[in-house]
Amino acid sequence: MALLFYSEYDDPADWGKHLREAIPGLDFRVWPEVGDPGEIDAAIVWKAPQGELRKYPNLRLIINLGAGVDSIVQDRSLPAGIPIVRIADPDMSRMMAQFVLAAVLRHYRDFVSFARAQKTRRWHYLHPREAPTCSVGVMGLGNLGATAASELARQGFKVAGWARSPKAIEGVESFHGPAGLAPFLARTEILAVMLPLTPQTDGLLDAKALAMLPRGAKIINVGRGRLVDEDALIAAIRSGQIAEATLDVFRTEPLPADSPLWDFDQVLVTPHLASVAIPRTAARQVAENLRRVKAGEPLINVVDPQRGY
Ligand code: NDP
Repeated sequence: MALLFYSEYDDPADWGKHLREAIPGLDFRVWPEVGDPGEIDAAIVWKAPQGELRKYPNLRLIINLGAGVDSIVQDRSLPAGIPIVRIADPDMSRMMAQFVLAAVLRHYRDFVSFARAQKTRRWHYLHPREAPTCSVGVMGLGNLGATAASELARQGFKVAGWARSPKAIEGVESFHGPAGLAPFLARTEILAVMLPLTPQTDGLLDAKALAMLPRGAKIINVGRGRLVDEDALIAAIRSGQIAEATLDVFRTEPLPADSPLWDFDQVLVTPHLASVAIPRTAARQVAENLRRVKAGEPLINVVDPQRGY
């Protein structure tokens, strides 16, 4: 089986090593050293240029090298009828849960205030609060969001989650659907966003939604930049409606040098790395899907292009 690898962000040598271990005899071809395009059976890709996947007439499987599939499902030039799977693995969820926990703690334990006070050599005592008095809300309770919500509940926070469908996660109050959005936001002091970007979620956190949060709320966005109306967010930060933010994803990436988001000391900007696919563990599910596609068996972690995630 010949597998094409395309990613400008991931290490082909590391993926090649783990994939060859998981799939003995694998013919692993790193773009642009593709060879005969007709020999390619499957492609593992992250942000391949539009039209690239049309070049392989015998392609049977597209593997999105990551959890977020918005760029691939929006690619109108994608060859029709070829199944798309994604990486959804526990190590990736753990890495995301760690990032989200660190961000929640940054806001909950007043690190922003201490960093400000330190600049003027001010001893700024703020009595710590207990975690159960702090309401954290998680938007998106999929592979990543559910793990993060459980971890936050384990830390004692008052946790609620919002998804399309109701969920039963221990220690996490469930809200769902458009009707559940306003009550969910109204009870949320620290909001962590782990939704996929779809036509339904694009711009979901607009000025109106941000105003539904209690005044002085904090936002962590690790989903996609376009889930949040960035201009509305900047206005909400200026007005104090949003007191602090930790942002890993942006409308335009890299975040342009002239974005006001760089200037707020209460906003932490990180360069889209909250979680990544880990070859050591993810290679196993890639191998399993390649085996299944060969055997004509149902695939795992299948993406529904109509639903958008
Ligand atoms: P999943 O597909 O497993 O979960 C998506 C969740 O979002 C589900 O709970 C789903 O609800 C919910 N959802 C989707 N659409 C809606 C909607 N219209 N209204 C309410 N809820 C909705 O995704 P993952 O957890 O694996 O990943 C989530 C996102 O995180 C990715 O799509 C990607 O954009 C982002 N990501 C960011 C990374 C980073 O480094 N910053 C790394 C990896 C991913 P339901 O369960 O009811 O279907």
